[in-house]
Parts: sequence; C-alpha cells; structure tokens
Amino acid sequence: MSLSNLPKLAGILTSGIDHPGHISLNIYLPYCNFNCRQCHNYKIARGVFEEVPYEQLLWELENNFVVDMAIITGGEPTLHGEKLLNLVKLIREKRKDLLVRIDSNGSKPEVIKLVSNYVNGFAIDIKAPPFEKEKYEFTIRTKFNIDAFLASVKIAAELPYTIFRTVKYPWLTEEDLEKIRDFVKAYGGGKPYYVNPFVEVVEESES
Ligand code: SF4
Repeated sequence: MSLSNLPKLAGILTSGIDHPGHISLNIYLPYCNFNCRQCHNYKIARGVFEEVPYEQLLWELENNFVVDMAIITGGEPTLHGEKLLNLVKLIREKRKDLLVRIDSNGSKPEVIKLVSNYVNGFAIDIKAPPFEKEKYEFTIRTKFNIDAFLASVKIAAELPYTIFRTVKYPWLTEEDLEKIRDFVKAYGGGKPYYVNPFVEVVEESES
C-alpha cells in the first residue's frame, strides 16, 4: 500500500494501561477538530509532531508479541477518513491476532461507520453531559454537534470492545458526572464506562 494512502504517524507506544486486561500498541495520529482544555496530547492534536516512519510500525507489528491489541489514538483518528481505514486494514493484514480499537471524540459518525466493520471497538470520550451544549463547548472550545455524537455512540455501542470514558475535569460537578453516567446507561449499549482521574497539563510555551 502506498504511503500516500496512509495517515502520518505521530507516535507509537506499548501500553498496559489503556484498555483493561490488554496490552496495547498505541498508534498516535496527528490533528484534532476539538481544542479541549487540558488536552494531554495537545502538541499532536495541533499538528506539532515528528513523523514516525512506517518502517517502525511494521517492525512493531512483526516483532512485538507482548501486545494483543492495537489502539489507534491521537489527536482525532477519524479526521483521516479513508486513510484511517487503510491503516486498520494494514494492521489486520500484518497481525491477524490483534484486536483493534479506535479512540474518538465522536464527532465524525460517517468515519466511525466506515471503519466499524473492521475494528473490535471504539473508546468514545464524553467530555461533559452531552445534552448540555454550553458545558460541552466550554471543554472542547469549539462547536459541539449532539446529533453527530449520538450517531457515533450508536454505532460504537454495538461493538464488543467499545468503552466510554470521561476525564474527571475539575469543572465537572458530581451532578454532571451523574448525567454522563445516565447518558451511557441510556445510549451505551451496556458497554463499560470509566471515569479517569484528572492530571493537570502545563503546556510548554511556544517561544
Ligand atoms: S478531542 Fe482529545 S485529542 Fe482532541 S483536543 Fe480534545 S483531548 Fe485533545
């Protein structure tokens, strides 16, 4: 497959903490359409990264047998559309034993749909109570489209390895968290929901 049909890679990491019970090969893709407060991958999300050559990914796929899952994360992987699908197919072709999960902010249901037949699940981030547009937009610092998000959640909820997650941002109240839990109960297809602790990000100055 030609490299021009694949997304640029911004990082590769073996991780034991990203999916309960699994050791994953995390593959980081650049760029994001949200601009969240306290983004842990803000450089990658803003397109500031050193490109990782595909040779490195191929080496990992051919040699790293500690992992049992590939997690495509970012940034927002769904921004890469067809190229994301090509990456999933490449992983599938090289390592039939790996589960494949894609992390997403749920803003691009058409891409979630496109890849959904080729992956085992998604990790959908829920940043605030989804029906509270103002609160959601306070966190993501851009427009929030609830219809697109609901469509993504609906597709993701059908896959066996899907999880939903929320960072316990300090500006979310207990009531907010309760509303998010209720949302997952109503729309999440019984899939696991995790509230992850907040760890402050201090951005490096650009000068
Ligand atoms: S959606 Fe994720 S990657 Fe994008 S800005 Fe928000 S926290 Fe960062």
